[in-house]
Amino acid sequence: MPSDLVIVYHRQPYEEVEVDGKIEYRENKSPNGIVPTLKSFFGSVDKAAWVAWKEAVDPSNPGFDRVVEIEDSFGKYTVSRLPLTAEQVRSFYHITSKEAFWPILHGFKEKYNYDPVDWPTFRAVNWAFAEAAAAEAAHGASVWVHDYNLWLVPGYLRQMRPDLRISFYHHTPFPAADMFNVLPWRGEIIDSLLAADVVGFHIPRYASNFLSCVRSLRDVGQVPRDKVAEDMMSEGSALSDRTVPTEIHLESGHVVHLGVTPVGVDVDYIKGLAATEDTDKLATRFRSEIGDGKLLLSVGRTDYTKGGADQLLAFERLLERRPELRGQVRLLHVSVPANRNMTVYEPIQKELEEIAGRINGRFGSFTFQPCALISRAIPFVELVAWYQVADVAWITPLADGMNLVCKEYVASRKDGDGVLVLSEFAGAAVELGAAVLTNPWSTRAMDFAIDLALDMPEEERRARMTLLRAAVEKRDTRHWASDQLSLLSPEDFGKRAKK
Ligand code: UDP
Repeated sequence: MPSDLVIVYHRQPYEEVEVDGKIEYRENKSPNGIVPTLKSFFGSVDKAAWVAWKEAVDPSNPGFDRVVEIEDSFGKYTVSRLPLTAEQVRSFYHITSKEAFWPILHGFKEKYNYDPVDWPTFRAVNWAFAEAAAAEAAHGASVWVHDYNLWLVPGYLRQMRPDLRISFYHHTPFPAADMFNVLPWRGEIIDSLLAADVVGFHIPRYASNFLSCVRSLRDVGQVPRDKVAEDMMSEGSALSDRTVPTEIHLESGHVVHLGVTPVGVDVDYIKGLAATEDTDKLATRFRSEIGDGKLLLSVGRTDYTKGGADQLLAFERLLERRPELRGQVRLLHVSVPANRNMTVYEPIQKELEEIAGRINGRFGSFTFQPCALISRAIPFVELVAWYQVADVAWITPLADGMNLVCKEYVASRKDGDGVLVLSEFAGAAVELGAAVLTNPWSTRAMDFAIDLALDMPEEERRARMTLLRAAVEKRDTRHWASDQLSLLSPEDFGKRAKK
């Protein structure tokens, strides 16, 4: 039976576990991904489907089911799995997406690597995703496509199925024309996105940037500007746009809506987790390990966009500048390495290890290490306990589409205390103007911000945290998904998430 809602997202919506030689599909309980949020919309339609890739399976193997029917707590849904070879995944995901698109999206022209890109493979993989979505979609169905590695899907899908309602959401920043137009495939990408009915972004600036790209490549005439996200911007930093484009009218008569909705976190889930006895026990243990000193916490992936090395250098300067803090302040720097196949991140890891080692060598002792560098993922439950004991969450990416860690930190602070130092170049800064906002490209701004955070009186900490908590609660995950989907098809999906 065809589906009324098809979600196209590169990851599968469950975990596959082998039990006695047979594959079982288990619900993915991870709270921090968007998968559960997207699945929550399955309950609002008669039939739903999900399209993802599955790596390195032999499609001719009779044991491989291309399409599987899943039933879990979100209901029944179909999962269409595209069998991709390891080479296809390497080319379309690890190379084209991560070495060519990713640096441009985040404004790192010097990291952009064009040479190894195999564009026909990128097209072929996107075409296959579009075909799989078209095969599942009922007449007039809504198809929601996610992220830049599937940029060409809306255009292909429109060719295959003009009847569909298509929405595309960017989970990354969207750069301005000067940066985006470095991509030689810019016209093809923009035309594909303009074939969608809705193109979604985290913040107004990304929507304005998108419009600047469209205008630099295509003639779209007047674009109505409205106060789409005025409410959101009023709380935010100076870097938010004051006017937001809302729709683009093409000569063909087709209208593309620009939807600005920041991804949030599952506030209820995090609050629930923060309130459990187990988390309390963990937090108490961590607190006793920390002792009287202050804890700075930094959590992110090992990626040049996250600015890990700049932050460690700022910590080194802090201990140099303020000898009274030596032995009193510690930094827990969690940097989660990328997939093992992605060698581009290896030099960053080395650099982090080098700086952290030097800091400990310079300012540590046999019993006290000021900098703990953790190079693996910490389970979310444990992370929530760390959030609760960290005096300062120090989140200073050089560029970041949204950044969920800062929102998780705020949602975890049931005690109403704690300081968030946040980069102006994280999308979240637009909503979280009550944080200590800083510019990670400036050593002076970084030094000023960390001093302010460490010296902040309790009254001010609490006042800021109250504002931050209100902002994070206002736009949680459900708000994000229902807002984007209601733009696509207001009569069917608006505010009807099952969970
Ligand atoms: N995370 C985690 N364990 C870790 C580090 C990170 O579970 O050790 C999670 C974190 O809770 C957050 C996500 O990974 O939900 C990172 O999301 P964010 O938007 O901050 O950054 P991204 O990696 O998507 O750029």
